[in-house]
Amino acid sequence: MAHRRDEPPMSGSEPPMSGSEPPQLLIIRPSNLFRAHQDGFSAKFNVLKAYESPLPTETFLREHAQSAKAILCFKGSPITGDLLRHLPSLGLVVTSGTGVNHIDLAACRRRGILVANTADVFSVDTADYAVGLLIAVMRKISSGDRFVRRRLWSLSHEEFPLGFKLRDKRVGIVGLGNIGSKVAKRLDAFGCKISYNSRSQKPRVPYNFCPTPHELASQSDILLICCPLTEDTRHMINNDVMNALGEEGVIVNIGRGAIIEEDALVKHLVARRIAGAALDVFENEPRVPVELFEMDNVVLSPHRGSYTKEGYFDAFRIVVENLESFFLNKPLVSPVRIEE
Ligand code: NAP
Repeated sequence: MAHRRDEPPMSGSEPPMSGSEPPQLLIIRPSNLFRAHQDGFSAKFNVLKAYESPLPTETFLREHAQSAKAILCFKGSPITGDLLRHLPSLGLVVTSGTGVNHIDLAACRRRGILVANTADVFSVDTADYAVGLLIAVMRKISSGDRFVRRRLWSLSHEEFPLGFKLRDKRVGIVGLGNIGSKVAKRLDAFGCKISYNSRSQKPRVPYNFCPTPHELASQSDILLICCPLTEDTRHMINNDVMNALGEEGVIVNIGRGAIIEEDALVKHLVARRIAGAALDVFENEPRVPVELFEMDNVVLSPHRGSYTKEGYFDAFRIVVENLESFFLNKPLVSPVRIEE
């Protein structure tokens, strides 16, 4: 990858690009990454902010964005085929994160539009977060926090319930990619026994491969979801997989909400057919099933797996590098390969 930590930070005083006018960068809705580095983006590009216009988006695009060549998006501002039809000059879609399930990749391919993401800049932080969520649910850290805040520790005569040991637990990782392999390394160090499922077996890893999520669940105490949301993975963790995990089983999801059949997950938790869950992602964010709010065996997180200040800075750099490469007709630094 072309960026290095020891390079001097980019600053607003650098010339935007060669040539006179900074190139246009279209933003329909700002991501947190854009908000965090707005000045940095504005110093380099002529940022077209559709969200600041009183015009409906389509009208704004028709009147102001016909020559826009690049768009910066995120999971909350989907790039649909319909949107692309309003952008005849578009050549690059760059997203503020790793996942690309909010982008109509087939439509991009048909139009010859390139797509870039932030590669694996968030994978260390997301792997840390997955382990944090797992420890929180197993050792009841967030429910312990609520117990203390509600003054129940001093007022109640009830004992706070026991948690569960992490060492020796069988952890099944769905998706042994950038994030999943870092989660595996961390939990290996905790003394867990790691198995995984992914599209293909990894000959160089020492962990046990299971060809299906069902088989993985049947051999695991903990199922940890680290794969992308695709047509194949949507609702892949269904009733059968949860039944195979069993009533002592715990699910942690940092992939995408819709990889799990959320209704089935809620029913399993309500009926105690699985022991607990720690969820950073949900099927219809920011909506979270209300049944989960009252459950002390469930840890809820507002899709924050990748959010660190340092990670955001790295992501900003890689987004800028992709944009600059595109405008200078050079290869992208982190292209998304679109499968046929
Ligand atoms: P990655 O390096 O591309 O790894 C994805 C893994 O998922 C690969 O091992 C892949 O298998 C596996 N996979 C793909 N389709 C599968 C299927 N049908 N069944 C089983 N496994 C399958 O991606 P990553 O960087 O680790 O990120 C994974 C996802 O995490 C992202 O797409 C994003 O949605 C999510 N994410 C969430 C946060 C957060 O804040 N919660 C932050 C960053 C990313 P093969 O290796 O066999 O191809």
